[in-house]
Amino acid sequence: MKAVIVVHGGAWAIPDELSEASVQGVKAAACEGYRVLGTGGSALDAVEKAVRSLEDNTVFDAGHGAVLNADGEVELDAIIMDGSSLGSGAVSSVQNIANPVSLARAVMEKTDHVMLTSRGANLFAESIGIKTVPTDTLVTEYEKREWEKQKKYITGVKELFNSQWGHDTVGAVAVDSYGNVACATSTGGIRHKMVGRVGDSPIIGAGGYADNRSGAVSCTGHGESILKVTLARLIIFNIEQGTEVQDAVERSLRYMGERVQGAGGAIAVSPSGRWAATFTTERMAWAAAEQGALWYGLNPQEKFQDKLSQ
Ligand code: ASP
Repeated sequence: MKAVIVVHGGAWAIPDELSEASVQGVKAAACEGYRVLGTGGSALDAVEKAVRSLEDNTVFDAGHGAVLNADGEVELDAIIMDGSSLGSGAVSSVQNIANPVSLARAVMEKTDHVMLTSRGANLFAESIGIKTVPTDTLVTEYEKREWEKQKKYITGVKELFNSQWGHDTVGAVAVDSYGNVACATSTGGIRHKMVGRVGDSPIIGAGGYADNRSGAVSCTGHGESILKVTLARLIIFNIEQGTEVQDAVERSLRYMGERVQGAGGAIAVSPSGRWAATFTTERMAWAAAEQGALWYGLNPQEKFQDKLSQ
């Protein structure tokens, strides 16, 4: 079977000064994830690996580089889902955790629950020996400056995705050589969000979904809009109805735009290795790795190709 991984670095009006680093970041993450698939690893391991790489990269709003909420704090959300069992794990509003995607995976594998939030999630992390880091180490100088600047101008989160105030959630979807699919999404959310605000990213069916019978999806964009249309599940639903992967993503994003005036993006892969990376915001950094080829893009309709050296 054909193994593929697709990653995104968030859908919004990425400013020119961040575009090169964003594209390099998604390409590196796709390569890391693909290396797992290329050595017979599972889709689940591949998406976790790719998202960890994006969380560790300060250009993205996840793990290191996360945006700050209204009180100037970091609150992180993440989900991971295994398409073979429909097992999923998520965390929301966690602090001091460098790789929330791995904590989400521990929720899936080591508890009877699907999501843990804030203090409980942090206590669970402690109980299984996941190291906490001082919040300060997750916050970049760039974010401190932007947070201050934006404080004066903030009008509403909806505008963020059509302006340069937005920020980049990260995600990955993959199918492995056994035909299993998986997805993962991780974010610091939206800058200046209310304390305790949880967006779409850690919510099953909204920020991500994976089912071996249809495919895997990871979403990004205006969280409140994505939640209202349960975007990940809507894309899966369209695939289930027989719509081709690319059309299913485009149709669902169009619906979100028409129905709730929300902009965003999504990546998707089917068990047979069909994939898509599509967005309705100005830009979205994405990359896809499959046998011999590394695809990537940033602007609408853009699709570049590099040779993939294993
Ligand atoms: N969807 C994320 C949220 O609303 C943000 C993003 O994708 O950039 O928290």
